Order: sequence, then structure tokens, then C-alpha cells
Amino acid sequence: MSSYDVIVIGSGAGGGTLVRHLAPSGKRILLLERGDWLRREPENWSAADVFVDNRYISRDTWLDGKGKAFQPQVHYFVGGATKLYGAALYRLRKEDFGELRHHDGVSPAWPISYEEMEPYYTAAERLYQVHGARGEDPTEPPASAPYPFPAVSHEPRIQQLSDDLAAAGLSPFHAPCGVMLNEANPPYSACVRCSTCDGFPCLVHAKSDAEVLAVRPALEHPNVTLLTNARAVALRTGPSGTEVTRVDVELSGAPATFSADIVVVSCGAANSAQLLLASADDRHPNGLANGSDQVGRNYTFHNSQAVLALSKEENPTVFQKTLGVNDFYFGSDDFEYPMGNIQMVGKSSAPMYRGEKPLETKLAPTRTLENMARHAVDFWLSTEDLPRPDNRVTLGPDGQISLSYTPSNEEPKKRLYHKLKSVLGQAGMHPDHLIPRHAYLKTEIPVAGVAHQAGTCRFGTDPHTSVLNVDCRAHEVDNLYVVDTSFFPSIGAVNPALTAMANAMRVGDHLLERMGAARAVEEHAGVG
Ligand SMILES: Cc1cc2nc3c(=O)[nH]c(=O)nc-3n(C[C@H](O)[C@H](O)[C@H](O)COP(=O)(O)OP(=O)(O)OC[C@H]3O[C@@H](n4cnc5c(N)ncnc54)[C@H](O)[C@@H]3O)c2cc1C
Ligand code: SF4
Repeated sequence: MSSYDVIVIGSGAGGGTLVRHLAPSGKRILLLERGDWLRREPENWSAADVFVDNRYISRDTWLDGKGKAFQPQVHYFVGGATKLYGAALYRLRKEDFGELRHHDGVSPAWPISYEEMEPYYTAAERLYQVHGARGEDPTEPPASAPYPFPAVSHEPRIQQLSDDLAAAGLSPFHAPCGVMLNEANPPYSACVRCSTCDGFPCLVHAKSDAEVLAVRPALEHPNVTLLTNARAVALRTGPSGTEVTRVDVELSGAPATFSADIVVVSCGAANSAQLLLASADDRHPNGLANGSDQVGRNYTFHNSQAVLALSKEENPTVFQKTLGVNDFYFGSDDFEYPMGNIQMVGKSSAPMYRGEKPLETKLAPTRTLENMARHAVDFWLSTEDLPRPDNRVTLGPDGQISLSYTPSNEEPKKRLYHKLKSVLGQAGMHPDHLIPRHAYLKTEIPVAGVAHQAGTCRFGTDPHTSVLNVDCRAHEVDNLYVVDTSFFPSIGAVNPALTAMANAMRVGDHLLERMGAARAVEEHAGVG
């Protein structure tokens, strides 16, 4: 059995970032990833392959609360879901760290303040090369440094939209983007500003994903080893029951075991819960770290809507994800509860509409799909969904993920949609043509849209109501940590990846201190 200082399971936003943070310490680190490298191939940028044939959705079957099988929108690759993400890298709002009253109940406070996370947000923005402009978003939390790169410019139709929204009294802002675009010096720009970014892998490795900016740089350190096609299947504890002594893995289908002083789980919220539950033994009959019966509970995933508006004039925008609107994030004059965030998604194209019933039946008789795509302006609306104990991951009969979920905050979600609809006329669009999209969500079954999954192992100070302590260490297991989005006690209404990255760096500093290796990282990749 090979032994390491640290084993990290899962190479996405949480795990990949953590390994990058620990790598300069010289500690022996093993990164286990159940997927393979995502192949660079022409299909990376094919809308038909990616959106219609679901080429990069991993083959996995989960069960819903009624035991019905479905295919979740998951991506098992080096870099995890960030390989396909839209790279909108938002900080949670300062208020999201406190308790917030919502239409359907309370979004609970985090056990740490925004101020404690702030230096790590700044460090994560630097590591992931975030482009943005401070001072435009009225809900923006205080930051100790400017964005490391200037905001990605709006193309003319989106600039017009921004001007129209401002004229309608809103405060549109340049969205924070993780693309390695150098507009001042195009010949030296890694990013070519294409239309196949959000939801697609980046063929030229210019998206700020965890493979490119975390795992690959970490592997330049000889003390870091990556094993792909290495799926952790169980964690085993020693005689005390309070220390993980063995990680059981399926390595290209064959059994293998590894051990380490510290074991970090970062498989994505649903898979991390599955791994802990599947690690039940005599001493942990309900699953590892689950004496509180909290593992798997409080699953959240954003109450999201992808919608398409039809512009009266054509919308030739190539890279559309440059604008956000947070005016309704905490409510409005006519609705006292938070509604959420409005942002753009990648520009839709005709092949993406294939099989989309609302579009085909409502508009296709009068417009061809190509014509529709030429006029489409695409929005993404996110409303916070509240943590509920019964929204949870359990194990199905074969040990697979079983996901029970009932949505919350449906009323604010509707209100947000109507807020957007109400300004369309002033923004040069047909107010009657705001159409829900399913292709971007890649599914018509809401529970399968797990892109923003979080919250199954929340951190807190009370071992009866949380799985992890404030360092993201399991209350019950001395050397077990979780650093993916599982630790979120609430998800807010902005995209979650930057928070997972920042927190991984925060936990990374704690681990370095625990291993007596803090200085090495401060010089290389620490918080400055
Ligand atoms: C299409 C799409 C668009 C998105 N757009 C945005 C966006 O614009 N902005 C944003 O902030 N977020 C976005 N997200 C969400 C974002 O990608 C996730 O929140 C983030 O990647 C979560 O990080 P994580 O570490 O929790 O999990 P992941 O990044 O998913 O990493 C988990 C990793 O663990 C591996 N794994 C799972 N089980 C095991 C096991 N048993 N053994 C070994 N390895 C395992 C997986 O293969 C995966 O690599 C998007 C997601 C998708 C799918
Ligand atoms: S827009 Fe840039 S980062 Fe995104 S896929 Fe295209 S080249 Fe890659």
C-alpha cells in the first residue's frame, strides 16, 4: 500500500485548487480522479456534439426520490465540472455569510464571516485570472484588491443592452469572467473570444479551469502524483475509528489501496456524500463522519432558469457572458425578499434548439431556428434555493446516489423572471418572447441539473447540526477534510465555483500549518 502525506480525492474547483496550493510545500501528495483527461478534439467546440449528443456528460445513473433512474449533468474529468463551466467567477455577497430572510424561510449564516474569506477570494481571483471591474455592481462585497485583469468588454449588442438597462434604472455591470483574454494585445491572447465557451470545454486551454490553472501547474512539482481513472470507493478507519487509515480505490477497474496522514474528499457535493455514506462500518453504521445524520442533507443547487429573449435587431454577439444584473438580488420596492442574480449565458445557436418543445412549437412556425438564433439574447437567472434537511443524498439499493429534492423559493424565481420580462420592451426586445430553455440546462428533469450542487456536508460549529468544523475537517474524524461545494451552509444566488476555490485555499493554509509547512506556500502561492 503506497503512503502519502496528503490524498486529495477529486480534481475539480475544490480538490484541484487545494493541490495547487499545497504543491510547493514539498509534501507528498496523491490526487485521485475518477475521470480521465478531457480530450482536446474538434468536438470540444461543436454545439451539436456538446449540447445535443451530450458528449462530455459522464455516464452515471442516479435515482430520484421516487427511485426512478436519471442521468445527472456531471462531468468526471481532470478539472471536474470546471472543464465545462461558464467561468463566471463571482464572490458571494457579504450578506450571504449572514442569516438572510427569504420568501420560503431562512438562509442560515455561515460560521465564518465574509471578512475571513476575503483574502482567499482575492487569492483565488488571482490564481484563476478573473477579469472584472469593481464598483459597478451595487451588491458587490468589499474587496482588498482590484480584479487582476480588466473586465472583458461588451460586444456592441450587449453594450446596447447595458445602456438600455441603465436607462431603465438598473445597474448592469461587467460580469467577472475567468477567460485568459488579452484585449490590449490580441496576438498574445490565449483566448480567441469564441462563441463556444459556456458549457463547452476550451479547445485552446484558455478558460480558467481547474485542470489548466491548478492541476497542471501542481504536477510540475515532483512531489505531486495524479492518478486518473481512480475512483475512491470507500474510506476505512483504524482501531480508534477517528482516523482514516486507508482509501479503497478502483484504479482502471482494479482494486487498489492508498494511505495518507491527511485525506481530503472533494468529489462534488453529491459524490462526496455518497463516498462518506458508502464508507459505513461497525463503528460508523450511518456512514463516516455521520454521527449527526447530517451527511447528504441540505443539498442545494440553485433555482435556475435559462431563458431566451428575441431581439428586434440581430444579435451577432460572439462572447455574450459579459454582463450581470444584481438589482433584484436582495429584493425590490414591490417584493421584500431576495430574488437573485441575472446574467448572460453563452450565445445560443440553431443546433442547440433541436428537440426543444417550447421553442419549436411556439416560434418555429413563423421563424426558422437559424433566424431565431440570429435574434436570440440569452439570459441565466439564479434564485437561491434554501437548505432543507429532506433535500438529500442517500444510497440507492446498489450504493448509487439517490437524490430527493423539492424546490424552494418558487415565488421569487417567478418574480425574477417577470422583472426581466418587464424591462425587455425598453431593451429592444419582444416582451412576449421570453422563452424558457432546456438545452442549456441539458435536461428537462430539474433534479438532473446538478451543475451548481452544494451543501451535503455543511461546515459549522455544532457537531449536531454540521458535518465539518470551520476548518472543513470532519467533527468526528481527525484527519478527514472536505473541500468541494459540500461545505456550503447556503448557496446564495451567484455561481459557486470561486467560493469553492477560495475556501480550498483557506483550508490549504490550515493544512500547511498543521503539517508545519506554511512558509513554503506563502512564497509561492499563498495569500498576499
Ligand atoms: C455547464 C456548467 C456551467 C457552469 N458554469 C459555472 C459558472 O459560470 N460559474 C461558476 O462559479 N460555476 C459554474 N458551474 C459550477 C462549477 O463548475 C461547480 O460549482 C464547481 O466545479 C464545483 O466544484 P467541486 O470541487 O465541488 O466539484 P467538481 O468541480 O465537479 O469536482 C469534483 C471532481 O471529483 C471527481 N470525483 C467524483 N467522485 C469521485 C470519486 N469517488 N473518486 C475520485 N474522483 C471523484 C469528479 O470526476 C470531479 O473531477 C458550472 C457547471 C457546469 C456543469
Ligand atoms: S471564449 Fe476563450 S476561453 Fe472560452 S472557449 Fe473560447 S477561446 Fe476558450
